[in-house]
Amino acid sequence: MNEKFDLITIGGGSGGLAAAQRAAEYGARVALVEGGRLGGTCVNVGCVPKKVMWHAATLAHGFADATGYGFELPQPVTHDWPRLKQRRDAYIERLNGIYARNLERRGVTHLQGWARFTGANEVAVDGRRLSAPHIIIATGGKPLVPALPGAGDGLVSDDFFTLAQCPQRVALVGSGYVAVELAGMLQALGAQVSVIARRDSLLRSFDPMLQSALVESMQADGIELVWQADPAGLRSTAEGHRLQLTDGRELGPWDAVFWTIGRGPNTDGLDLAAAGVHFDEQGFIPTDRFQCTTRSGIYAIGDVTGREALTPVAIAAGRRLSDRLFGGHKDRHLDYANIPTVIFTHPPIGTCGLTEPQARERHGDGVKVYTSTFTGLYYGVLDHKPKTYMKLVTVGAEERVVGCHIFGQGADEMLQGFAVAIRMGATKADLDDTIAIHPTAAEELVTMR
Ligand code: FAD
Repeated sequence: MNEKFDLITIGGGSGGLAAAQRAAEYGARVALVEGGRLGGTCVNVGCVPKKVMWHAATLAHGFADATGYGFELPQPVTHDWPRLKQRRDAYIERLNGIYARNLERRGVTHLQGWARFTGANEVAVDGRRLSAPHIIIATGGKPLVPALPGAGDGLVSDDFFTLAQCPQRVALVGSGYVAVELAGMLQALGAQVSVIARRDSLLRSFDPMLQSALVESMQADGIELVWQADPAGLRSTAEGHRLQLTDGRELGPWDAVFWTIGRGPNTDGLDLAAAGVHFDEQGFIPTDRFQCTTRSGIYAIGDVTGREALTPVAIAAGRRLSDRLFGGHKDRHLDYANIPTVIFTHPPIGTCGLTEPQARERHGDGVKVYTSTFTGLYYGVLDHKPKTYMKLVTVGAEERVVGCHIFGQGADEMLQGFAVAIRMGATKADLDDTIAIHPTAAEELVTMR
């Protein structure tokens, strides 16, 4: 029998949950289909468990600084990885339960299973057939593994969260944010870490100031950075895994090698052809600004679209789409400009808007940049004195702020408010006219000359 709904969302991750719940709040009859665990990547193998690990790593850095602040700690300070894992997993399980109850409370029908299109308005889930005039594809993405000999012996970011112990020697192949975040956490929690990059930089699309600051900081933390390394295969030996490179070099051995080379879309089992939905050669589903696919009545949101792969982006796209479809907000859509983001390295990176090269490409000589490099007060009594780096990118005679880039302690919590200011069109003079909060690192952003 065909079960009829107003909306079906395929995927119960950040985007699918947000769209389903918002639609239900407007009174729509909604079915949400999830094959795995509610919460998707973010809750189960992404942002949330990662941030728990980042906090653990931050504590490890704090213990290293503690003697400078007069504390005597037992040496060495030990860490019980299995205990942390058990507490982290229990927290995630609680979140899974909260998500299920939230759906129930809003009257969303939650189907556990993998959905497949059987027509433009119809999906099948374990023998059940559902139909709706509106179907949202929110199936997210998955970590990529290269098609190289032995690559299957490597791990991916999902596996980081199943590790029963901290591996002693680890390599992260890749130079994006997942690579640098995992590298920082593993090194702080006791591993000896190498990052293997194809070129000679990390976070290539970020402002050059952030890239060089991160390299400096990771090296100071003892992380090995290997440049110009193009993998050709992974060889597992009794001593550990060795990475073979196209130039004949062989690196390693390591106890664990992670492929952190990017993410692809989760579209394989969907049978998009049956629905007449166009996808690109990598499988991502392009949409217009209203999240519409090439097939009327079918939409895509979140990581599966290949756009900014961030939880708040998936949530915002999902909520706006439901506002439009069921809430009468005819023109509601997500503006993808000026999306702030944080990289949870140690210290963290906060970035919003245009990088300096992007601004110069778009605005030429109309760009004026302000920078500040300083040692934060926290390090005043410590022997090591890492630097904080900040940059404001402005354009035009009015010096409208179009980019804000921060590397340093507190950048993660600092950026959100500045992202609001950028979105509102703040100028350098607006920042200058704002009274500083002293003593903080953030005050530098309103006192730059
Ligand atoms: P997902 O959350 O991936 O949800 C998709 C869901 O669809 C999954 O649960 C999947 O099981 C389900 N599904 C797939 N196919 C089907 C099917 N056929 N039928 C039924 N269900 C299906 N973002 C941030 O903003 N901040 C961070 O700090 C951050 N850290 C991250 C760290 C890591 C290690 C990773 C991997 C990602 C991180 N992200 C972070 C990105 C963030 O997790 C994603 O952008 C976000 O989860 C995307 O939401 P989504 O709804 O598009 O997809």
